[in-house]
Amino acid sequence: MSDLSDITPREPQRIIDLVRAAGVDVSDWANFKGGKKNAASNPKYCYERSFIEPNKVVVLNLWFVNLKERNGAIQCDFNMHEAAHKAGQLPINTARQSRCQKLDHAVHVALRENLPIRVVLCDGEMRRSDDAKASHVSKRLLDEVPWAVTAYDWKSGQCTVTRGAYADHFVDQFSIEEESPQQVERRTISAQIFQRSPEIRRRALLRANGRCEWCAQPGFKMADGRVFLETHHVIPLANGGPDTESNVAALCPNHHREAHHGEIRDKMRQELLNRLATPKSRSNTAHAPLH
Ligand SMILES: [Zn+2]
Ligand SMILES: [Zn+2]
Repeated sequence: MSDLSDITPREPQRIIDLVRAAGVDVSDWANFKGGKKNAASNPKYCYERSFIEPNKVVVLNLWFVNLKERNGAIQCDFNMHEAAHKAGQLPINTARQSRCQKLDHAVHVALRENLPIRVVLCDGEMRRSDDAKASHVSKRLLDEVPWAVTAYDWKSGQCTVTRGAYADHFVDQFSIEEESPQQVERRTISAQIFQRSPEIRRRALLRANGRCEWCAQPGFKMADGRVFLETHHVIPLANGGPDTESNVAALCPNHHREAHHGEIRDKMRQELLNRLATPKSRSNTAHAPLH
């Protein structure tokens, strides 16, 4: 599934370029005495750990070494209330405290507005939050897959963000149909016959995390950056198959067709049922209230 080696930062990329690539307007970075040429080192922005583009996206800088593989998902835990408190006790550097508070605020915005989180993974010299010396980032990588907040304690500030948990990133054939108005009538008719729960499809897509559950190859990336797979009822609804997570697989279009028409369709059906019946380690994440 998700693999840490895919997202290891290996190059000294500039934060301004990654934040821009994530969809944040960086035009104001040039408004300082260093001018346009040095916009990348505008101290008002370049040391920040979070960026918000209203109604669009939140960008967080996370240390690669702080990532955890948990139940097949890649996650990061942090507590910015605590970090801000520790930074506030240091004799110097109130800027660090404010950066922690801003990061916490960015998490609130992502939660409230249901925005995707884009993560810039950082590598370098990480300092503990009670160390007066500043951390130094030497390598960065912008993860292509959006993240989402999957746990947040409003009292303590304890937060978990999870890679791939932003539901709208993964789409299937029905999501696309819903977006094209001329199809609506047909869909309404078929929906009267077989109810497909959008929630079940969404969970199957999250569980698959962008990879075909038959061949494990990534679904193709759409023009707008989302990832496409098709959801498939292993035992068809028409044959009395249930509309449940353990009967819905996310497949690449080729294997979806093969599951219906291929010479090996019976074998595929059995094998898919077996795979879906084994409680997937990812299901913890998929079931977590996402927003
Ligand atoms: Zn496939
Ligand atoms: Zn199907």
